[in-house]
Amino acid sequence: MTSTLIVGAGSAGCVLAARLSTDPARSVHVFEAGPAFPTMGQLPYELLDPTSLPVGPESRLVWRYPGNLVRGKLIGGSGAINGSYFIRPPAADFAAWSSVAGPRWSFEAVLPVFCDLEDDRDFGWAPGHGAGGPIPISRTRDFTTFSAEFAQQCTAAGFPEIPDLNAPTGSDGFGRVPLTVSNGLRSGPAVTHLYPAMHRPNLTITGDTTVTRLLLRGNRVIGVEWAGGRTYADQIVVCAGAIESAALLIRSGIGPEAQLRSLGIEVVQPAPVGAWCTDHPEIGVEFPDDQPAEPAVPLEYVLEIDDLELRPYTRMFTPGLRRIGVALMHPESSGELTLASADPRVPARIDHRYLHSDRDRARLREGAALTADLLGRRIDPIDDAWLHTNLGTSQHLSGTCRMGAADDERAVVDELGRVHGIEALTVADLSIVPVPLRRGPQATTVMLATAIADHMVV
Ligand SMILES: Cc1cc2nc3c(=O)[nH]c(=O)nc-3n(C[C@H](O)[C@H](O)[C@H](O)COP(=O)(O)OP(=O)(O)OC[C@H]3O[C@@H](n4cnc5c(N)ncnc54)[C@H](O)[C@@H]3O)c2cc1C
Repeated sequence: MTSTLIVGAGSAGCVLAARLSTDPARSVHVFEAGPAFPTMGQLPYELLDPTSLPVGPESRLVWRYPGNLVRGKLIGGSGAINGSYFIRPPAADFAAWSSVAGPRWSFEAVLPVFCDLEDDRDFGWAPGHGAGGPIPISRTRDFTTFSAEFAQQCTAAGFPEIPDLNAPTGSDGFGRVPLTVSNGLRSGPAVTHLYPAMHRPNLTITGDTTVTRLLLRGNRVIGVEWAGGRTYADQIVVCAGAIESAALLIRSGIGPEAQLRSLGIEVVQPAPVGAWCTDHPEIGVEFPDDQPAEPAVPLEYVLEIDDLELRPYTRMFTPGLRRIGVALMHPESSGELTLASADPRVPARIDHRYLHSDRDRARLREGAALTADLLGRRIDPIDDAWLHTNLGTSQHLSGTCRMGAADDERAVVDELGRVHGIEALTVADLSIVPVPLRRGPQATTVMLATAIADHMVV
């Protein structure tokens, strides 16, 4: 029996655990830092309610980092607390991805994986779609007043309505957001993948347990360390997310050599962990509105224009203020993640470098001006100071353990997530995506975890 230990029961970890435990010749043990509610019935209702975003200052279900950055810390990870938006990136992103990591990640190769995953209630019958898969996809039919007005404003401005934002052809325009919502319930990967597999005798989930370090013997991983002890396994799959996966590798001696030495960590394998990361910087265009927010999923419509996504949020983040988010989906500038300390209690540092590129600032200014035009308002001036004041994160950090060939000096893992230079260690989550994605990352995370798990079970 092969023993596989998965670090993190987040979006990717749930999928990996469910797929790998279909193999009766394998035992699968998952360590999750947050609570692992043993049955779906024990999930607090706010996690099932897709109109709630349980990430506020009072939430105990998130990791917190500077700059309002949060990640889910519970069974289901960020996929258990997110906005349920589930959109596939366009073919161009997979062309870029496969150019650095091989044909396994071409659009033609990943499309069948996306199709098999979905049970699209609106387009399951259409080419390039799926019905009967584990992930229910639906789109809002009864819109909030604010969303309906946004759609009218887009039409009046000449933007086409795209009936299906997940159509393989993809194109610019506004459309209803495909949502992982079924019968009014948020359906993240814990619900769609992990809970249905929980009864398997070869699958164990241990919650409230943070893995602090990987245990290595020479260049082979042999187990993990956590506050209460050590657990050994034949194979480790790290699914701790873009921030914590990178932090765990660096703390274990797999990372930039100078950083490891300065932290007093023994160098096991020099690797550019954290040297590149990307997010979707978002500018919030806000304006007063005395109508109360109606309960709804955070986004019912989005407008896609090349590398910009306009997001008319149904909720008010500040009472009395409406917000349209202008997100840059293909930024030129990239950030860096480093550790300030080898102590696992000290959070990683992330220097996003969001507005470093002239082009990125120009595109965000154009997006903000377009939003003001749509709304029939003026923002004056839209200069760099205004951008900085209204800048935030989309919570879409990725790329800290980039995928690529062994001779690619930017690469940490190979095309299947296996860490270069280390045996029996795989990273399989959003941290390994080597290019910016032009859409939110949830659909891609689930697809990539499925593709890697499929390879591991054959
Ligand atoms: C508030 C919010 C809203 C979002 N909305 C959307 C959206 O609507 N659509 C979209 O496409 N994307 C959205 N995203 C992004 C998307 O949810 C994430 O990118 C995706 O879930 C990442 O999956 P992952 O498996 O890489 O990491 P995660 O899902 O974050 O999983 C990592 C898991 O590992 C655990 N973990 C971490 N470190 C350790 C450790 N040392 N030991 C044990 N366990 C550990 C964590 O607790 C967590 O459960 C949102 C993100 C956030 C935070």
